Amino acid sequence: MSEGFVYCPLCSHALERIPDEGQARMKCPACGFIHYRNPAPAVGVIMLDGARVLLVKRRFDPYKGKWAIPSGFIEYNEDVRETAVREVREETGLEIEIVALHAVESCFDDPRGNTLLVLYTGRITGGALRAGDDAADVGYFPLDALPEIAFEAHRRVLGDLARSL
Ligand SMILES: [Zn+2]
Repeated sequence: MSEGFVYCPLCSHALERIPDEGQARMKCPACGFIHYRNPAPAVGVIMLDGARVLLVKRRFDPYKGKWAIPSGFIEYNEDVRETAVREVREETGLEIEIVALHAVESCFDDPRGNTLLVLYTGRITGGALRAGDDAADVGYFPLDALPEIAFEAHRRVLGDLARSL
């Protein structure tokens, strides 16, 4: 697995691989920069209608054609709740408000990199259901008859939800 940067993002010197607390890190021998890698934060919203959950069919890779909880990456200057509301709007056409924090999950099967997924529950306040630009389709599915789900963390959370109902 790559450790990310090859050259120092601060001074452009070639980085060296160093062991640090059991993690392989890239360090710059010229200026001392160390590249600490962290999972990218993402957020999604669980929208329930009785025992059905709102899912989005992925238009693009990774996992194109599989279904997922409406979710996306948090922009640098964006509040996590704003991202949640924006992603649901962009992917499903629905206006929502956040109800509660549901779960925080690690995601290790996104080829773009590991993520930390914050999941809220939400409530519809407006809009109309339609697949957005990066969604091939959108719809509600019974929790006990789900389509093929894209990410392991999504499968785990939806499985737990199905067992809790
Ligand atoms: Zn440097």
